[in-house]
Amino acid sequence: MKRALILDLDNTIYPVSSIADKLFLELFELIDEKLADKQAAAKAKHELTRRPYQHVADEYGFSDDLRGKGIELLKNLTFNEPMQPFKEYNVLRKVKADKYLVTTGFTKLQYSKVKMLGIADDFKNIYVVDPELSSKNKGDVFQQIMIDNGYIVEDLLVIGDDPQSEIKFANELGIDTFLFDPANKHSGADVTYRAADYRDVAGIVN
Ligand SMILES: [Mg+2]
Repeated sequence: MKRALILDLDNTIYPVSSIADKLFLELFELIDEKLADKQAAAKAKHELTRRPYQHVADEYGFSDDLRGKGIELLKNLTFNEPMQPFKEYNVLRKVKADKYLVTTGFTKLQYSKVKMLGIADDFKNIYVVDPELSSKNKGDVFQQIMIDNGYIVEDLLVIGDDPQSEIKFANELGIDTFLFDPANKHSGADVTYRAADYRDVAGIVN
């Protein structure tokens, strides 16, 4: 039995691809302008739909100038157009357990997405892990949630799409994990549960 679910946001509750072109229009133009290696630019833009900007910037050799300009842009960015959760999310919504949202990204932008998705009331608390504001990671937040609410690791299930992020940090703490893998991209990932939808979650919780 699980008392609480900890959810990731991007690509777990909604697909980033549904907003990426509009959301990242200016940033993508900046990358095209400043990154001479066109192949790297294309890859970096794709990676930005699934990983934090700072990690992508480091991996794809963004100059200090490009890195800084991108951060300035994203720091003040909000998304203000209608957004839809995955249809699979409705199943999660109905699961009876405390729910927490833990998402990595720029604070203003992440909260604007929560607002446009209309999901704020689904959660007991929402945490944005913002690499520009703090060196804390998702694992630190998971521990904080346990301390603040008196949960033990067995009480929790962490749900996300990224084996290198929430899944990894949950594994390190011994928390059970549920990998949402609709495209079957991570068949070898180290997880407790893995599925293309959220139908099994209610059974895991009860
Ligand atoms: Mg994600």
